[in-house]
Amino acid sequence: MTTTNDQLFGRAKNSIPGGVNSPVRAYGSVGGTPRFLVSASGAYVTDAEGREYVDLVASWGPAILGHAHHGTVEAVQQAAARGLSFGASTPGETELAELVKQRVSVDGDGPIEKLRMVSTGTEATMTAIRLARGYTGRDLLVKFAGHYHGHSDSLLAEAGSGVATLALPGSAGITAETAAQTLVLPYNDLDAVRRAFDEHSERIAGVIVEAAAANMGVLAPERGFNRALARIVQSHGALLIVDEVLTGFRVGSAGWWGLEASKVVPDGAGWKPDLVTFGKVIGGGMPLAALGGRREVMDHLAPLGPVYQAGTLSGNPLAVAAGIATLRAATPDVYESLNRTASVISAATSEALAAEGVAHTVQRAGNLFSFAFTEQAPRNYDDVRAQETWRYAPFFHSMLDAGVTLPPSVFEAWFVTAAHDDRAVGRVLDALPAAAKAAARATA
Ligand SMILES: *Cc1c(COP(=O)(O)O)cnc(C)c1O
Repeated sequence: MTTTNDQLFGRAKNSIPGGVNSPVRAYGSVGGTPRFLVSASGAYVTDAEGREYVDLVASWGPAILGHAHHGTVEAVQQAAARGLSFGASTPGETELAELVKQRVSVDGDGPIEKLRMVSTGTEATMTAIRLARGYTGRDLLVKFAGHYHGHSDSLLAEAGSGVATLALPGSAGITAETAAQTLVLPYNDLDAVRRAFDEHSERIAGVIVEAAAANMGVLAPERGFNRALARIVQSHGALLIVDEVLTGFRVGSAGWWGLEASKVVPDGAGWKPDLVTFGKVIGGGMPLAALGGRREVMDHLAPLGPVYQAGTLSGNPLAVAAGIATLRAATPDVYESLNRTASVISAATSEALAAEGVAHTVQRAGNLFSFAFTEQAPRNYDDVRAQETWRYAPFFHSMLDAGVTLPPSVFEAWFVTAAHDDRAVGRVLDALPAAAKAAARATA
């Protein structure tokens, strides 16, 4: 007898808060029982009931080559046989750092002179803001509403109303003092940034921004936004921290910055972040993340400088092996295939929704995409939240019933992999008409 997802979820809830180790997995916004996965291969995942699904979550990005990619698995197995963790330096760490520096550059010029490895994106952004504060000797941090940078205290602050309002805590357990040191501004609003600097110029240590927002659904920056932001921030002696935890090595070899610097994205060339954070793809599915940037700033980290940061499992040899294998295999051909697959699936989804008269916009940033149930393309978090979010749950469940796992929230990007071949994509396309009908029938 197989154990059902229902049984597994029931049991998990007795021993794990909400039955999950990361909240979105609980299906809170779509309802129903989460699928408990037991294996994955290529474009597919298999649940505990033995059902196979075409996967459009891809571990939230890392599985860029497809699940259980042969070269990556082999690299990890070989590393494991040599020892799981040493708590000492390994040659692989330097190899990965060099690989990142070389990849995140355009015409030999890039923002990464040095790189420090950590285990999660949360650690990378947390360290980046500590470093910005330690380097500048200032206290305030600016972030944008709807941008996600992990769950450290300073970065969970929510949007207050108006410009540069001192934010209120966005989670219980964060002190008002901590939240008050984070200013939350509307995305794509350069005037709001200028006003924040007019008011607090001497106090702002840094501005953190997703290279292209993809944690409120996908929301690419308006043309030239990142470059103009860099000018403002850097002219005030603050640091620009560009969070590429999601976009780095996913939208292209050199991340979103690379798409702008190489003019694939128009009107974005000619700027550089001071610090960049990576996660997700850089570890190829293993816990690995990193922050990198200008030598002069990075050298403020211990042991060279006064900003402390450390990690027992940082640069773990298995994670480093997975990262190196994944980055080496993520060739320009892979990115071309991801772009093609993203175009096919996003166009077909839009067509299916249009055929049922469902108002929506296609949100796209490179091979990342999502859909907002609204007539007008959103430009910030308020716009995104104003959509008909309730259309997503029935859409999601119709796709799930047809054997396609989508992200269990309308505020997440869809992820394709290089293993999504015609058969896998065909299964997604076949499922769309019924799902679009379910979205059309939905009521608030
Ligand atoms: C996922 C994500 C993080 C957090 O990374 P974790 O590894 O989950 O801690 C930070 N920033 C962005 C943009 C992300 O998408």
